[in-house]
Amino acid sequence: MLPFIRSDLAQFTAYKPHPSSDTAAAVPVQLDRLDTNESPYDLPPELKEKLAWTYQQVIETNRYPDGGHETLKNAIAQYVNESASISSSLLTAANISVGNGSDELIRSLLIATCLGGEGAILVAHPTFSMYGILAKTLGIPVVTVDRNKDNFEIDLTAAQSALEQTQNPPIRVVFVVHPNSPTANCLTAAELTWLKNLSEQILVVIDEAYFEFSQTTLVGELAQRPNWVVLRTFSKAFRLAALRVGYCVAHPEAIAILEKVRLPYNLPSFSIAGALATLQNRQLLLSSISQTLHERDKLKAALCQNPKLQVTESAANFIFLRLQPNVFDPQDTTLKNLHQQLRSSGTLVREISQGLRITIGTSEENARTFKRIQAALTNLDSQ
Ligand SMILES: *Cc1c(COP(=O)(O)O)cnc(C)c1O
Repeated sequence: MLPFIRSDLAQFTAYKPHPSSDTAAAVPVQLDRLDTNESPYDLPPELKEKLAWTYQQVIETNRYPDGGHETLKNAIAQYVNESASISSSLLTAANISVGNGSDELIRSLLIATCLGGEGAILVAHPTFSMYGILAKTLGIPVVTVDRNKDNFEIDLTAAQSALEQTQNPPIRVVFVVHPNSPTANCLTAAELTWLKNLSEQILVVIDEAYFEFSQTTLVGELAQRPNWVVLRTFSKAFRLAALRVGYCVAHPEAIAILEKVRLPYNLPSFSIAGALATLQNRQLLLSSISQTLHERDKLKAALCQNPKLQVTESAANFIFLRLQPNVFDPQDTTLKNLHQQLRSSGTLVREISQGLRITIGTSEENARTFKRIQAALTNLDSQ
């Protein structure tokens, strides 16, 4: 350990980017990358050409980017109003802050609320790992509660008592994903009621990274709930994971704080141009969503035919696959083998919390996923 490094950092593990280079080396060349919930479709060539033209003719690489993001914020506000059927002009640029991926916004929210021993965060396991990872790198305590094993609803009794009992520092932020990753379920009525009853001293972060797939949003609540914020991203349905753009929708006072905390030029010019271009072409880009949802339902139905497997409802572009309890073994050997065999046959999925999170890809990829899972299970039977 380097002697000048904060002592608490020694025990943390970094977020493991996917696909990792060791994985790539161990499997065949043609990979089905179904482990990061990206869109399987690149931007259409005509849109990429337009962006290439922008890069060549408009962007001056010797100049700093637009650090105020005004044009992008206006375009986002319009999209958010439209997507929530909020009469336009209700949400404006003053309700939006943009980040280098929503990851940056998560970090800014943590800095603005909990840093310096002022607060802890509450998460319900399993969920998106970045909340915990980023909190710990900032020295912010993470309080974890469980979910119901069948429908993945948050254990609200445990959550409530964690809120009441956590002191020095108290819980300042509750992170929820709507729909959750890796379990793909939306917030239930009971969870919403609990969130609505939280004190205004507590920030509620609703991560809607998969909104375009779930088509259900809580931005309509923001007007009467100054302690709620909604996070969205361009990394999933908008096919822009490579450019790192996310945004936060919130009360103008909360936005002003996020603007204070962020780095001055957090978004490269090309990323701003990319986000604007995808918003302008959203009808085209989002027209693939219904296909993805159809493919998801087809894959889920096919996998459910196998008596060894269970797949719960999904409101997102991925499914969470588990083995039936009678196949389950305490060390997860069967699941690990299944994961491993998928990998060696060229399908990358995420093994997490006693299940596999599988992104919906192209129809060819999904057909291969199904075939390879069936083959791996047959294989494991005969071992
Ligand atoms: C993919 C994902 C994001 C997106 O993060 P970016 O930094 O915007 O790429 C955020 N939250 C959740 C829950 C996700 O699954």
